[in-house]
Amino acid sequence: MGADPFVVHVARLRRSPGRVAHEVRRGEVAQAGPLDEAGIDPGRSVVPAGAEAEADVMLVPFAGGIDVDGTVSAPWVGICRRCAEPVSGELRIRVHERYADAPLAGPSDEEIYPIDDDDIDLGPLVRDAIVLELPMAPLCRPDCAGLCPQCGANLNEGACGCVAPRDPRWANLDVLR
Ligand SMILES: [Zn+2]
Ligand SMILES: [Zn+2]
Repeated sequence: MGADPFVVHVARLRRSPGRVAHEVRRGEVAQAGPLDEAGIDPGRSVVPAGAEAEADVMLVPFAGGIDVDGTVSAPWVGICRRCAEPVSGELRIRVHERYADAPLAGPSDEEIYPIDDDDIDLGPLVRDAIVLELPMAPLCRPDCAGLCPQCGANLNEGACGCVAPRDPRWANLDVLR
């Protein structure tokens, strides 16, 4: 592997007042909980192992830092929470974050990423954006009919023929009758 694809050297940019830079960086996201051969948890989605994420951002210097504004995109895969079929999609996430020389003491609700030796690492920004936006309980489609609770048939493929069970509270009355 060569240099980290998400690290951007910003020394020249910062020394040229009024300049902005457009950067498009692609790379693999070492994602917590990658898709493995054993399958994935129901109700969770992940960026598939080996898949690439992209950061397409404008870098705008300000006194003491760099403003990063753009889009992060990445593919995701999961399984439908109702019918357990594989689902997939593409995340496109608006990002607008700041990088600064020294951790700014300020309201802690705004995350500031570090500038290290005139390098900024877009990797943590990309990972944070993806982790927040991955679907927690994906559906294959909004009206997925799910599985029959009795025979397990996928009801998206048609009715299975099962008859809804009778209310057990009436079972004794049936016997009496
Ligand atoms: Zn489904
Ligand atoms: Zn059934």
